[in-house]
Amino acid sequence: MQFICKSNTYFCKCKLVALRLIRMKAERNTIAKIQIQDLLTKSSEALSPNEILKLLNGVCDKVTIYRVLDRLLESGQIHKIVNFDGALKYARCHSCSIVHKHNHIHFSCERCKSVTCLEDVEPTFKLPKNYKVSQVNFMVSGLCPLCF
Ligand SMILES: [Zn+2]
Ligand SMILES: [Zn+2]
Ligand SMILES: [Zn+2]
Repeated sequence: MQFICKSNTYFCKCKLVALRLIRMKAERNTIAKIQIQDLLTKSSEALSPNEILKLLNGVCDKVTIYRVLDRLLESGQIHKIVNFDGALKYARCHSCSIVHKHNHIHFSCERCKSVTCLEDVEPTFKLPKNYKVSQVNFMVSGLCPLCF
C-alpha cells in the first residue's frame, strides 16, 4: 500500500488510516480463512472455488479464496482433487500434516457433478519393477447415492 503524506510526524492522519486499512484487511482474511475451513469441514462433498464463493455469500473475493486454499493445502488441512473435466475441487484431510498421505478413491457424479472422498476405499495395485509411486489419483465416475 502506498500513501503520500508531506508531514512526516508519527501521528500523521494518512499513516493511521493506512494502518487501519491493513488491520481491516488482515481481519477480513482471518474471517475468510475460518469460514472456508468451516465450510470444508462441514461439507460432505469436495468444493470448487466457485462453490465456496457462492456459499460464502460475499464474505470475500475469489483471489482471497485461492490464497486461503493454498495456505490450507500447504498445511495439510485440505487436498486438491482434479475432476474428469479438469476442474479443481478441494476436500478436508483427516490425518495429514505437512505431507499429504491418502490413496482413497474420489467419486465424481455425472448427474449432480458432486465429488466425494470415499476415504474407506483404497484400491490396491501393483506396478512393474522400476516404477516408484509418489502420488496417487483415483477418480471414479457414475451416479452418487442421491442421483442413483
Ligand atoms: Zn491430505
Ligand atoms: Zn449425484
Ligand atoms: Zn479426498
